[in-house]
Amino acid sequence: MSEPLVIVGNGMAATRLVDELTRLSPDRYAITVVGEEPSMAYNRVLLSSLLAREIEDCDLELKPRTWWDERRVSIVSGRQATGIEPKRRIVRLRGGTQLAYAKLVLATGSEPIRLPLPGADLPGVQTFRTRTDVSAMLLRTSGKMRAVVIGGGLLGLEAAYGLKKAGAEVTVVHLMDRLMERQLDQRSAAMLKAALEALGINVLLNAESVAVQGRRKVGGLRLADGRVVDCDLVVMAAGIRPRAGLARLADLTVNRGIVVDDQLQTSAADVYAIGECAEHRGVCYGLVEPAYEQAHVLARHLGGEETSYKGSLLATNLKVSGVGVFSAGDFLGADGGEPIVLSDPEHGIYRKLVVKDGRIAGAVLLGDTGDALWYLDLIRSGAPIAAMREALVFGRAFCEASEAVCVEPQAEAA
Ligand SMILES: Cc1cc2nc3c(=O)[nH]c(=O)nc-3n(C[C@H](O)[C@H](O)[C@H](O)COP(=O)(O)OP(=O)(O)OC[C@H]3O[C@@H](n4cnc5c(N)ncnc54)[C@H](O)[C@@H]3O)c2cc1C
Repeated sequence: MSEPLVIVGNGMAATRLVDELTRLSPDRYAITVVGEEPSMAYNRVLLSSLLAREIEDCDLELKPRTWWDERRVSIVSGRQATGIEPKRRIVRLRGGTQLAYAKLVLATGSEPIRLPLPGADLPGVQTFRTRTDVSAMLLRTSGKMRAVVIGGGLLGLEAAYGLKKAGAEVTVVHLMDRLMERQLDQRSAAMLKAALEALGINVLLNAESVAVQGRRKVGGLRLADGRVVDCDLVVMAAGIRPRAGLARLADLTVNRGIVVDDQLQTSAADVYAIGECAEHRGVCYGLVEPAYEQAHVLARHLGGEETSYKGSLLATNLKVSGVGVFSAGDFLGADGGEPIVLSDPEHGIYRKLVVKDGRIAGAVLLGDTGDALWYLDLIRSGAPIAAMREALVFGRAFCEASEAVCVEPQAEAA
């Protein structure tokens, strides 16, 4: 008989886990997925495209209903799990239902941080995490709407781009001295800022938000230096927090996220956590690729294979407001290393490679990111780059061409 496997959270990590597990061990588990959002699992990464009206709501769906049915997965959507009891192996749902499990996976993702500013509860203050958030924003983007996005990280810039494309006048307010400081160095961040400004998005750096102004609805955002940015919508995109509440209530070990070992197991037997809610070796990842890598390892583990997750290389490779951005590894050279830089601000192209001990330790690409995966492979593999060091920053094709020029005469001599 199949063992009952319950997954709490019907998001991107859960879907990938079901996909891989049902391929590996189609009959071993009777899977139930519990999701509090009313819809089937969807691609959260595409929410900014939905906001920008580049795609339709139906394009978000990760898998059609028939896909889940074919795998005999029971979907409980629109229901929140409110408690877990590892000793009794039970998950409690809002409304009183209890689900028994042999194995439990928490894939509850993250929640957006709502800054506790005065006025933050006014209508027109919004977060950016779900389909519902996007619908609420789109409802407001009629006429000459003015929006302020708090946060100049990945999510904030995605929101800004979507709102701009949807017709709003947009200002990004960022606390730090450069945009996307976790992914970009000063020069690439300055180039990205220029690209956003060219799109008509205003960017305020070193700007601390202190209050949302307005009586019955949002009228402006006040900054610490006294300036007020007039607006009708405030989008808070100032970070995320792993959703670890269920684990905490059940006395599982939780730091920032739900602590897991190399098999993705929490401190309770047969309870696992993957995706943004999990903390592995002190790291909570906020991107989809590590969530997929964790799902891959857990599927193998649940399928009975000996396997372990060693952590993911932090890499970002995406379009921010239409501008290609790639960043991986130690791109600031914090652990030592020499930067090799190619910069062409007029054409919006920037490449920085940090070389340490004859290998690439980190990289930032802005504008042309065509060679991103090649650089990522070089970082991941730790391949020696001495032979192509001079050509490296010009990209793969250039390196291969210069290798051919160097190698052919030797080949003839041989
Ligand atoms: C606008 C936006 C753009 C993004 N762009 C990128 C990008 O370009 N590249 C990238 O790598 N990443 C991006 N991300 C991040 C990416 O979406 C996440 O890393 C990914 O969704 C994580 O998957 P997850 O399954 O851990 O969490 P989620 O996809 O958030 O799924 C968790 C699900 O669990 C549900 N849940 C939580 N608690 C309970 C409960 N108690 N009971 C029932 N259900 C529950 C939640 O409602 C949610 O549906 C973006 C995120 C957003 C919001």
